[in-house]
Amino acid sequence: MRNLREKKMAREIAANETGRSAAIVTVENVVKRFGGFTALSDVNLSVRAGEKIVLCGPSGSGKSTLIRCINHIEKHDGGRIVVDGIELSDRMSDINDVRREVGMVFQSFNLFPHLSVVENCMLAPIKVRGLSRAEAHERAIGVLRKVRIHDQASKYPGQLSGGQQQRVAIARALCMQPKIMLFDEPTSALDPEMVKEVLDTMVELARDGMTMVCVTHEMGFAREVADRVVFMDRGAIVEEADPETFFRAPRTERARAFLGQII
Ligand code: ADP
Ligand code: MG
Repeated sequence: MRNLREKKMAREIAANETGRSAAIVTVENVVKRFGGFTALSDVNLSVRAGEKIVLCGPSGSGKSTLIRCINHIEKHDGGRIVVDGIELSDRMSDINDVRREVGMVFQSFNLFPHLSVVENCMLAPIKVRGLSRAEAHERAIGVLRKVRIHDQASKYPGQLSGGQQQRVAIARALCMQPKIMLFDEPTSALDPEMVKEVLDTMVELARDGMTMVCVTHEMGFAREVADRVVFMDRGAIVEEADPETFFRAPRTERARAFLGQII
């Protein structure tokens, strides 16, 4: 029989495991309408800490709407969304508490054109996290170094290539030390030769253990990092599987048709 000390340790380890796999995002029966049009109908998705999800599907299937609802850029009309333990609702006063834990990277990089690269990365940590300029600068340079773009720190976005701008956008989001990163087609506005540098940055982020939901049609990336591929069509999640299964043996005709078009 194990002694008490061992039992306590086992309990602590178990609690830790549970903590590590706890849901960061829970989406339950979510409905989103734009006027009479239903963009999301009864969507369910749970994202555990450390999990990497690739969200794919035809244009107009609701991928952007879903991740915009998770970030509360769009407000859902039905169901529940819980992010890091906080339920998103109309009456929220703590929406900024949620947003600061969620990093978002868009197709169009959305950097502030009048701020240098390092200032782009310092702004939110100063304004939202309350860091001093010196602290924010140190953090920004550290993150820019990690995405190997610190040599461009004093340039302005307009002086960088698209791939570099997107890596700065990723760095800027990371400077907030978010719990989860949402990517909405981060490489689809890039020239082909710049796609790889951005995907490489995302792969490294995944290896570092970041929780990620990525809307992307880069199936090589999906195979390499995704724990789960979630396929959407017409506002619903139609299929969900590990990448190997999804690509080898999609269950639905809609997924097969989609894969036939993009691969
Ligand atoms: P995806 O990202 O998968 O291409 P979206 O989530 O952008 O699709 O859009 C899903 C559907 O919702 C589309 O039919 C789109 O036209 C519609 N939609 C998205 N945003 C709006 C909006 N602000 N107003 C009206 N319709 C919208
Ligand atoms: Mg979209």
